[in-house]
Amino acid sequence: MQFALDDQQRLLVRTIRDFVKRELMPLEDRVEADGFLADDIAAEIQQKSRDLGLYAVNIPTAYGGGGLSVFDWMLAEEQYGYTSDILIRRAFGNVYEILLEGNAEQIETYLLPTVRGERTCSVAFTEPAAGSDAASIKTRAVRDGDDWILNGAKHFISDGLYSDFFVVTAVTDPDAGYNGISTFIVEKGMSGFNVGRDQPMMGLRGTSHVEMSFDDVRLSQAHLLGPEGKGLKMALSTLGRVRLAQVAARATGKATHIMDLMLEHARERKQFGAQIGTFQMVQQMLADSAMDINATRLALWQTASRIDNGEDPRANISMLKVQAAEMLGHVVDRAVQIFGGMGYCRDLPIERYYRDARIYRIYDGASEIHRVVMAKSLMKGDTSLYSVE
Ligand SMILES: Cc1cc2nc3c(=O)[nH]c(=O)nc-3n(C[C@H](O)[C@H](O)[C@H](O)COP(=O)(O)OP(=O)(O)OC[C@H]3O[C@@H](n4cnc5c(N)ncnc54)[C@H](O)[C@@H]3O)c2cc1C
Repeated sequence: MQFALDDQQRLLVRTIRDFVKRELMPLEDRVEADGFLADDIAAEIQQKSRDLGLYAVNIPTAYGGGGLSVFDWMLAEEQYGYTSDILIRRAFGNVYEILLEGNAEQIETYLLPTVRGERTCSVAFTEPAAGSDAASIKTRAVRDGDDWILNGAKHFISDGLYSDFFVVTAVTDPDAGYNGISTFIVEKGMSGFNVGRDQPMMGLRGTSHVEMSFDDVRLSQAHLLGPEGKGLKMALSTLGRVRLAQVAARATGKATHIMDLMLEHARERKQFGAQIGTFQMVQQMLADSAMDINATRLALWQTASRIDNGEDPRANISMLKVQAAEMLGHVVDRAVQIFGGMGYCRDLPIERYYRDARIYRIYDGASEIHRVVMAKSLMKGDTSLYSVE
């Protein structure tokens, strides 16, 4: 557990923050207006980030990644959080650690090109009738000789228009419940695999979220990722770190950036002949926001340190996911208030930050589900969520 960053960590933070401000944030308005990020610009920002060694920093160096500790990865993700989802995906990559579970051939075919930025992967777990209850999926893979035949449908799959392959959960043994779900790699272009409608969202402009269906898709054994029946277990164990990175750390970065904007406005904007930041009710919003952001960051560092120390603090990750998502919601809501009408007006990005923040309480497990995880762990005697061991 550390409370002060060393020189290398400060350099990492500064390098990424400068890069995000210089190369990515200026693109946000265009993405918002167009609803997409042009491929040539995506390629350009990826190349620039790769030149600085900032692509796929979460993946071990043995596979060509940046090999950061979880703590340092969270420092990086906090800085990514200053900008929008699609720009983060294209500039820094979105390499799911579940791909590390592949065999040698799968590492070669799927992981390594993804780390090199040549391929893009999405995870496809959610179905129209199975969201929070991920074990109740209906997508089914049935053995046919050495192959599998896949049928079913998924929705809300992030980056689905762009990605060229997907890690898909499917029931392989309907009688085994949680242990009857496996994960398969499904490639775009396979016969019977249809990527459908881009589902319109409240925010996250530029990132697609698609429906997809599998109609007798024939998969070989080479497409089974990890052991049969262990799909859900693998997904839950690897996605915890994704939640920490893509929700907790990014929410902290977003809130920090919003806090800077709130302070700037509170200093500059004058009403009744005084800076609005001198009015006590505005001051309360500023003070509460600083308090919430700082508490979340410290909790994030604590959880990241626990993972780096070899622990698997799942309930802690759930706690962080809820804390960070709700903290961002509170901070950005206060920002709209402090900016007044300009906070609601599309001439400024505050209203976009407000819309983009709302999903954090829903995806990667809704707050209610993570509270259930925490409560179950507490009831089993896990005092690490609130006490000193
Ligand atoms: C923008 C976006 C991107 C996404 N990206 C992906 C992706 O890339 N891949 C993927 O697989 N999925 C993705 N999802 C799906 C996302 O993970 C689910 O939306 C989320 O898990 C919630 O599931 P649901 O929408 O079906 O809600 P439901 O499960 O129907 O839940 C509805 C409400 O009921 C509550 N609820 C449910 N069960 C309980 C319970 N036991 N106790 C208390 N409350 C409960 C929930 O908390 C929620 O408030 C994405 C969704 C969105 C909107």
